Amino acid sequence: MATLEVDCPVCAEVLELTDADRAELAVGDVIVCAACHSEMEVTRNGGGEDFELELLGAMTTCPHCDEEFEVTTEMLAAAPTTRAQDGVEVSLMTCPHCKAKFELELADDEVETR
Ligand SMILES: [Zn+2]
Ligand SMILES: [Zn+2]
Repeated sequence: MATLEVDCPVCAEVLELTDADRAELAVGDVIVCAACHSEMEVTRNGGGEDFELELLGAMTTCPHCDEEFEVTTEMLAAAPTTRAQDGVEVSLMTCPHCKAKFELELADDEVETR
């Protein structure tokens, strides 16, 4: 049985979708990444390699107030990036609950570097 591998756009975890999985998915359905719990909406499911996902936003937990909130692609695009001490590129997010700024680490190849 063919298995389609889809990279999670947030954490780069490989999500494996079998033909049986895909047969149950319709456009508009939402897939949740097992690793980072990001939600992705199915935008194409035509068979073979004809499959596309659109990120709905990643859930993250504020390290200051412990509130969980959604990081949308718009928020990521607006967030300044910086390098953490270990050289990893991180986005500087602002918590919508307590307004604290904290560093959010993303998979390397998912961060747009200007
Ligand atoms: Zn993920
Ligand atoms: Zn907070």
